Amino acid sequence: MRSLKEQMKKELEQKDIFELAKELAYSYLDSVNDKDAYPDKKSIENLKIFDEELPKNSNSSQKVLKLLHNYGSPATTAQIGGRYFGFVNGGVLPISLAVRWLSDTWDQNGALFVMSPVVSKLEEVVQGWMVDLLDLPKESVVGFVSGTSQATFCAIAAARYRILKSLGWDVNRQGLYGAPKVRIIVSKHIHASALKAISLLGFGKDSIEWIEVDTEGRALYSSLPNLDERSIVILQAGNVNSGSFDEFYSICKAANKAKAWVHIDGAFGLWVRASKKLKHLTKGIELASSWSLDAHKSLNTPYDNGMIICKDKEALVGALQASGEYILYSDNRDGMLYTPQMSRRARVVELWAALKYLGKDGVDELIYDLHLKARYFANELQKLGFDVLNEVVFNQILIRYKDDIITKDILEFIQKSGVCWMGSTKWFGKFAIRISISSWATSKDDIDKCIASFKKVIEVLEDENI
Ligand SMILES: *Cc1c(COP(=O)(O)O)cnc(C)c1O
Repeated sequence: MRSLKEQMKKELEQKDIFELAKELAYSYLDSVNDKDAYPDKKSIENLKIFDEELPKNSNSSQKVLKLLHNYGSPATTAQIGGRYFGFVNGGVLPISLAVRWLSDTWDQNGALFVMSPVVSKLEEVVQGWMVDLLDLPKESVVGFVSGTSQATFCAIAAARYRILKSLGWDVNRQGLYGAPKVRIIVSKHIHASALKAISLLGFGKDSIEWIEVDTEGRALYSSLPNLDERSIVILQAGNVNSGSFDEFYSICKAANKAKAWVHIDGAFGLWVRASKKLKHLTKGIELASSWSLDAHKSLNTPYDNGMIICKDKEALVGALQASGEYILYSDNRDGMLYTPQMSRRARVVELWAALKYLGKDGVDELIYDLHLKARYFANELQKLGFDVLNEVVFNQILIRYKDDIITKDILEFIQKSGVCWMGSTKWFGKFAIRISISSWATSKDDIDKCIASFKKVIEVLEDENI
């Protein structure tokens, strides 16, 4: 071990390997827009180089870095380029990436103030900024978590804690066996991650009462069951397929009257609240009890970066708090009070940097620009003869050409072309190509290149038909 330790000490002093990492990262950045949006077959096959026994002897740092770059970089999706439209995956803001390099060097643990005063301070500041930016109730607290799946889990745990507490039942101590029944009421189009949270928290999917949706996938007030003080309602700001927004105002009003808890899954869509022109889509959302969203989606911070925002601090902290003699809570902000984990990377730093860099106007511009690009893309596709299946209210586009089979053929051709990448979905039983405009880096030129590929495939298909 001695010689290894000496070597590591030297590496920290000489910094050659950091220079090499920088050089390799720059070469990736410089080539990402020319690289295929999805790795080619050969790059994926070459990943078998990693199938080896755990080496007995140590390897040089240079060798480790170069191996990763030579075989790992080509097998990445070009997510930070301008033509990756898969799932709802955001790109990356340069400042957030740069700040991550720096803060990774700090290697901070965000669990407690005593572990990292700077993380505690930035979490406190960003909590205030986010509540202000999204125009949510002032008393709301924010937990910095890995993403919306985890955030929604925290929200439902808080709701469960609060509802049972008000019925005289301490779920932390008494558990769920024999507890008063809690009702779970969710949209038919709820995201899979919310269903997962419902299962993990012991409610079971069979107990769900469903809210019907309209043709855009919006949960309808007219289909809302009668609510009571035992009800948890989960709504969406941004349907994961169509991007649509539920009928928040009337549903939240009814929920407030009944003293029910409303959680909003706003993974990518809640960000429209930061855009003057799009904010109207979220009318009434401020009447909910909790909200979840991802900075790694529409805001374009690096992965992973999500938030649980909760109006009821006592419920969130009550549901998630841990105790132990060695845990040193302070008078300052202790991040682990608001999250399920203890040890946690300092992800708030990248979020703080994004917000500080962009400012309110910059966030507005970024979010509205995603919408404008989506509308442009959808219009151009329509001109080529595609059916656009959804109202492009934000950044999601669902398209289809004639029938399932032709649409599948087109998608396969596009995915193979490497020019751009996007996935598929079923929309009310029909196969659809699903495009998500989630990166600041997508330019008009990028969209035009994609349109040219769509045009080409349609010409080929039509030639075949003749
Ligand atoms: C992405 C997404 C999620 C899950 O978020 P993760 O950050 O991947 O955990 C939940 N709901 C919606 C609407 C999403 O788009």
